[in-house]
Amino acid sequence: MLLKRFFVPVLIFLCLLSSQKSKSQDIDYVRSIVKKLSSAQFHGRGYVNDGDTKAARFLSKEMKKAGLQAFTPDYYQPYSFAINTFPSGMIVKLDDKKMKPGKDFVIHPAAQTIRKSYPLVWLDDTITTLSSVYSMVDTNSLKGKMLVVPEGVKNAYRNGIPGVESLVQRVSGSIWWHVSGGRKTSGKLVLKMRDTMLTRANQTIEIDIENKFIEKHDALNLVGFVKGSAEPDSFFVFVAHYDHLGQMGKKTVFPGASDNASGTATVLDLARYYALHPEKAHYTMVFILVSGEEAGLLGSTYFAENPLFPLDKTKFVINLDMVGTGSEGLSVVNALQFPRAAALIDSINTEKHYFADVRKGGESCNSDHCPFYKKGVPAFFLFTRGSENQEYHTITDTYDKLPFTAYPQLFGILTDFAGHLRHEPNYRKN
Ligand SMILES: [Zn+2]
Repeated sequence: MLLKRFFVPVLIFLCLLSSQKSKSQDIDYVRSIVKKLSSAQFHGRGYVNDGDTKAARFLSKEMKKAGLQAFTPDYYQPYSFAINTFPSGMIVKLDDKKMKPGKDFVIHPAAQTIRKSYPLVWLDDTITTLSSVYSMVDTNSLKGKMLVVPEGVKNAYRNGIPGVESLVQRVSGSIWWHVSGGRKTSGKLVLKMRDTMLTRANQTIEIDIENKFIEKHDALNLVGFVKGSAEPDSFFVFVAHYDHLGQMGKKTVFPGASDNASGTATVLDLARYYALHPEKAHYTMVFILVSGEEAGLLGSTYFAENPLFPLDKTKFVINLDMVGTGSEGLSVVNALQFPRAAALIDSINTEKHYFADVRKGGESCNSDHCPFYKKGVPAFFLFTRGSENQEYHTITDTYDKLPFTAYPQLFGILTDFAGHLRHEPNYRKN
């Protein structure tokens, strides 16, 4: 009897403690991870100075702190790929005026070391097609010169212009860069430059850049899990890529706060939540942080080819890539491929008023859900939308610009979806 009386206040106290414990999302934690990952210490999480691997070591510690179990030592899954890099020289001058790398220009990722001056040859601003380029200039006469191509000629930077050895494409908006894995380098010289920097008064462009082609760049995926409380042999996956573009030259870093420190931090926050509440893990909850995304989905492709748990027992994969906004809503890639699962997201959203709008898209092989989807695993790619941050592949994709407008809502919709999926047995069908 006495015991009972004693236990009532203790129980109340324990309940209070557990409600304290049931704190779900932790936006302060997410912000701290994004700030850390996009700091100079990780060199843009690319290949220069092994920024991606340095980030992997940090993330492994975070997975351990979260209390995740591991399939492999330190959560690592090693693999490698070839990549062209620019660790040092990156000088471009217009008539002796130094341009700022990343801000005023970017260099095509397949470029090789080159040290040379070129006279500029201008094309008319009205030109938009390759055939009109050829009708305007004789490519034989361009030897040793650099062709200035107007913005309207689609893909001149991306694909080059056949027969043209050196070109600079003018760009009016912000200049974004990309990387490309496995690609052999090209003897052609292709740049993109802000059109406010490049005027018809300019006569000469001077180039001094240095590439380093790495035949075998060692990379790491990380995989941790929380064992399922009801169906531990079935799996539910959250995945995000933690790599970014790295550096273009010695000093120019692409921080990648939105792309994709935001998704990485969200996956870690989910990992902490399920590790703290294993009873919420109906299936075994797996948390995968992949590298090599920017070089062509290389980490997720490697994982899908070499999974650490059976993919045919995997109920669903949610990929998060660029999730730091949300004022305009949430987008779901592959929603049309899995309409019943998409309807579940819709109904959760309607009931809980998480996002103003959930936009359902078709398939697109543009992020890390794709290799899983190609293996027959149901997979969504979720990203947030909002004018509050439009940074994409720029040197200004920094931590301070990322507001996480709808982070609690995102966390809510993700955990609700994972929790409700088993009540929609036909979600694989359409
Ligand atoms: Zn990207």
